[in-house]
Amino acid sequence: MSTYTNEQVAHLVEGSLDWETTFRMLSMPKDNSRFEQYLKALQAKVSFPDKIVLPLGPHLYIVQSAKTKQWVTMCDCGHVFGDYRENWKLNAAIYVRDTEEAMTEVYPKLMAPDTQWQVYREYYCPTCGTMHDVEAPTPWYPVIHDFEPDIEAFYQEWVGLPVPERAA
Ligand SMILES: [Zn+2]
Repeated sequence: MSTYTNEQVAHLVEGSLDWETTFRMLSMPKDNSRFEQYLKALQAKVSFPDKIVLPLGPHLYIVQSAKTKQWVTMCDCGHVFGDYRENWKLNAAIYVRDTEEAMTEVYPKLMAPDTQWQVYREYYCPTCGTMHDVEAPTPWYPVIHDFEPDIEAFYQEWVGLPVPERAA
């Protein structure tokens, strides 16, 4: 049973739904039609032929490569960041704001953090320049690998859909 319209799912994909509705839509287990709807709407937005397996952000996805069937992390523009188990950030263009000048480009002077204790690391697609993530670690902290999603479990136990084929 699906209680959401294609239009609502399109709003979800555009990020124009409030968080509460988004959470309700994605957190009800075993509603495979909704997750399928969601993937379909995402797929309609991108121009690459590769099948979206899981979105990681508004412009970043794990996809099944149309050519090799391997799962890779991919940008909207088709740029491949590598195997989905690797930390895509290590293959991104990284801009570190670690000076007061660089900080005050984006943060008002009094609100900018002390760069001795905190820097901003911005991760961009090297091909199209889309910013995919930003971290605010202490300067010496290693690049953060957010999570390695258990996609098999997500498909089988959470949404009840067959897991897309994956080449090793
Ligand atoms: Zn890109």
